[in-house]
Amino acid sequence: MQNSLEGKVAAITGSASGIGLASAEAMVAAGARVVLVDRDEAALTALAEQHGDAVVPLVVDLLDPQQCATLMPQVLDAVGRLDIFHANAGLYIGGDLVDADTSAIDRMMNLNVNVVMKNVHDVLPHMIERGTGDIMVTSSLAAHYPTPWEPVYASSKWAINCFVQTVRRQVFKHGIRVGSVSPGPVISALLDDWPAEKLAEAKAAGSLIEASEVADAVLYMLTRPRHVNIRDMVIMPTHFDL
Ligand code: NAD
Repeated sequence: MQNSLEGKVAAITGSASGIGLASAEAMVAAGARVVLVDRDEAALTALAEQHGDAVVPLVVDLLDPQQCATLMPQVLDAVGRLDIFHANAGLYIGGDLVDADTSAIDRMMNLNVNVVMKNVHDVLPHMIERGTGDIMVTSSLAAHYPTPWEPVYASSKWAINCFVQTVRRQVFKHGIRVGSVSPGPVISALLDDWPAEKLAEAKAAGSLIEASEVADAVLYMLTRPRHVNIRDMVIMPTHFDL
């Protein structure tokens, strides 16, 4: 059945809120069992109570190297196999480069780029062995239209787009699809870190995207027949001049 993920097992990082949560809820509604990976323990506990067996909460701080390295073994231990991995957790830095805190740059590049590459590195042997699997990455419109008011963030997403496009071509022969979704401004906690003036412009233009719309795009890509290779979907707001 189209749009069904019945019987599939997924893991999504950064799934206690925003886009990751919307993606998790869309996958659960489509029949998947979803491992919710996040550092926000309270939110994960509440979600586990709400969704019961359909979700498996895993409290992990992906910026802790040890916790990051043991993520995949923990996921596979908890649910036995993985059909879908959605690398979604990310941080944001906006504004002028000269005002950025360099340790915040390190944290953001680590989470948005290095952690995604390591998580995908760690899940691939399992998917290669099974000869199937889907990897989805949350990128950003900022990578496709590099925005001068967020140079560090746009660079992180540009890097991860390159990773998606290159790894995709390495693993296609193993029956593994690698795709990405690149939304413009999405209503989530991350927008609290946006430059106030840009947020006001996006709001005035009526250009904020719902997280559920991003989840719809993810679900669309994941539910195509396997001979259709999912690729990269850009979700562009209509009236926001980047
Ligand atoms: P969000 O802040 O609502 O969600 C991010 C989630 O990641 C949170 O639940 C947070 O607890 C978790 N997280 C953060 N650091 C973590 C860590 N070290 N270990 C584990 N979990 C951690 O933000 P969002 O908007 O849903 O962002 C999700 C992704 O979407 C990010 O990659 C972001 O760059 C991307 N994105 C967001 C927008 C937007 O406008 N909101 C637009 C394009 C792309």
